[in-house]
Amino acid sequence: MPAICRRCRSKPAEVRLPYARMSLCPDCFRRYFEDRIRRTVEEFKMFKSQDTVGVAVSGGKDSAALLHGLRQAFPGLKLVALHVDLGIKKYSEHCLEKVRALTRGLEVELHVFDLKRELGFSIDDFRLTPYRRKICAPCGTIKRHLFDELAREAGVKVLATGHNLDDVVGTMLTTFLAGDWSQLVRLKPVLPPLSPLQTRKVKPLLRSPEWEDLLYAAYSDLPFRDIGCPHAGGTRVRRNQELLEALSRRNPAFRHQTLNNFLRLIPILEKHVDQPPLTTCRRCGYPSSAEVCAYCRRVELVKNTLEKRRQRSKLNPLLRGINRDQANDI
Ligand code: SF4
Ligand code: ZN
Repeated sequence: MPAICRRCRSKPAEVRLPYARMSLCPDCFRRYFEDRIRRTVEEFKMFKSQDTVGVAVSGGKDSAALLHGLRQAFPGLKLVALHVDLGIKKYSEHCLEKVRALTRGLEVELHVFDLKRELGFSIDDFRLTPYRRKICAPCGTIKRHLFDELAREAGVKVLATGHNLDDVVGTMLTTFLAGDWSQLVRLKPVLPPLSPLQTRKVKPLLRSPEWEDLLYAAYSDLPFRDIGCPHAGGTRVRRNQELLEALSRRNPAFRHQTLNNFLRLIPILEKHVDQPPLTTCRRCGYPSSAEVCAYCRRVELVKNTLEKRRQRSKLNPLLRGINRDQANDI
């Protein structure tokens, strides 16, 4: 006999939530997921019902679940979707297709920043720089900056991102193990802007395990990408997420308990940890700990690398010609 849904007590249960010791049918699971988004937004006062909320959509399951979940949890809320087209061969086109299908289906306005068209390079071009196989670092910096720019253009003051429970706890653990207290403080559920150029960042999926985002997106028939980014590698955060996964198999509530303890720790740290002094980047005007911010430095690096390559490809035929002439002279 299949188990019966713990909520409606009528349909067969399909989803087992071991940390909550309950099994739900797909419809009740979707309502449970949406209720959790509503409670998380209210618990951390992420936004007010009259705000326009920007949602960073990547084409993946988390941001698809976030956009749909927010729409269901707050039916009157004005939502705007923001997407950065990173220009990664095949992958970015696929992601953009999914984002367009998602926003069309939900009738949400979409703003896209096309990296290649606007700035003349793609994330793939970082392969030519010393980042080579660690492209996620510049990619993350660039995305964070461009989402702020997109949000400003769209007139959005609050930006919701699809960070799930596994992402947040994995990053908290990594930062904790590195002893990077000032960075740990910045992982709080609501991150206020440091300058008028930035938005308030919120994480409504903070309490949603990654696989539940996948289930919710699948049960809601949402379009999301089914290929992986070619640059995704084994980052320290990913390795710590795997460690958490193993610990959660023994104690299903492990990630939830870790999150709650970190959330209690953050206000204490905030009182005692000095944030590094900030100045204003002399190129883009965003807050920065150096004279030129990480975003501007990384953009400059990739542009210079591409320019040098262009110069070299112009010179190569000339040099080949000179070498041929010299060989003929001998
Ligand atoms: Fe960018 Fe890395 Fe994500 Fe690919 S996996 S989109 S390179 S952060
Ligand atoms: Zn800058």
